[in-house]
Amino acid sequence: MKIPFSLPLIDSLVEKEIHSTLHETGWLTSGPKTKELEEKISELSDTNFTVCVNSWTSGALLLFKWLKLEPGDEIIVPSYTYAATALAVINSGLKCVYVDVKDDFTMDMDQVAQKITNKTKAIMPVDLGGLPADYSKLLSLLDSESVRSLFHPKTDFQKVIGRPLIIADAAHSIGAKINGRPASRFADFSIFSFHSVKNITTGEGGAITFKLFDEGKDFQIYRELKVLSLNGQTKTAFEKNQPGAWRYDIVDNGLKVNMPDINAAIGLSQIKRYEKDLLPERERIFEFYNSVFQGKEWAILPPMEVFGRKSSFHIYLLRIKGFNEEKRDRVITALGEKGIGVNVHYIPLPLLTYFKNSGLNISEFPVSYKLFENEISLPVYNGLSQESLKVICENLSDEVEKLIRK
Ligand SMILES: *Cc1c(COP(=O)(O)O)cnc(C)c1O
Repeated sequence: MKIPFSLPLIDSLVEKEIHSTLHETGWLTSGPKTKELEEKISELSDTNFTVCVNSWTSGALLLFKWLKLEPGDEIIVPSYTYAATALAVINSGLKCVYVDVKDDFTMDMDQVAQKITNKTKAIMPVDLGGLPADYSKLLSLLDSESVRSLFHPKTDFQKVIGRPLIIADAAHSIGAKINGRPASRFADFSIFSFHSVKNITTGEGGAITFKLFDEGKDFQIYRELKVLSLNGQTKTAFEKNQPGAWRYDIVDNGLKVNMPDINAAIGLSQIKRYEKDLLPERERIFEFYNSVFQGKEWAILPPMEVFGRKSSFHIYLLRIKGFNEEKRDRVITALGEKGIGVNVHYIPLPLLTYFKNSGLNISEFPVSYKLFENEISLPVYNGLSQESLKVICENLSDEVEKLIRK
């Protein structure tokens, strides 16, 4: 029996939506499907507008460009994340400032407080594994008089906000909740990823969603982000295609990061049944794992809900008490030989060559290392069978217990 770590959901409903793109609208690049996906994301996130793009990464680059951030401006990110979080900051010419995480894998807001300077323009927490970061604590910190008076706005938008922005790296957390409300309501901007391994996928893709002001003002921001995502062109190909509407202008040195309809179709078929079917199925998988591992003295279960912050059940981050990297890796190899795909999320940034070479030292991020050294991510995806779950749990337990007995 072969159990892959991750499988995108491809079924007859996905095929139906793609078929509709190919044969009903006949429109492959950004058009009606992308627009509908944007509306569905806003609905799910309780936000005013959503801009779909071709990856989380290009969404971050696009947003930093729209914000007119400049060299010298600082963005604070956690050390425990996928590299894209920091690389988007670095590739925008900005200074990336790192803080450690807490035991629930999310950003340590007390350390954020110590790292804020008069150059800090944004904080980018990561909802790791799907668990929303502590946005309430972050917001009260950013809203404090000491942070507001330190803030040095350079653009009109920054003046209006009056404090560093909260930009959520929500690559894992579409559908996550805080006190029963979509987590996106607790950040200024949230950026999702629809890469093939994420909860909802478009093959490759991403989206920026927000509710900052009233609908009129937010529509203006939406329009500007859309224009900036399409070479700075005032009309989309779809709009230009309308009778007599050929003339366009280029009003900015935009990027080219729009999401094609053929991709949007895949995500659209998934988001339509996400809250009702797909997300609850992921939750049941987490609960199954919990039911097995809570009886194991060696298991440290991943957080599913912490003080009202409820996960979107993206990655099951199991930890093995007392294990180090070497023992953890042996478990992974043994499972791999049996055809069971597991993974590690993530190697902390300071352990990766590029970040090490730029001066990061893991000794300054002890919690990241502690979480990483004994972490094993287990398969979680729609369509993962009960039988597979049992095989995973039995084999994992066997391998761990074998090593404990040694
Ligand atoms: C996947 C991921 C990204 C990057 O998403 P892309 O769509 O591949 O650009 C960023 N941050 C985190 C935490 C991720 O897991």
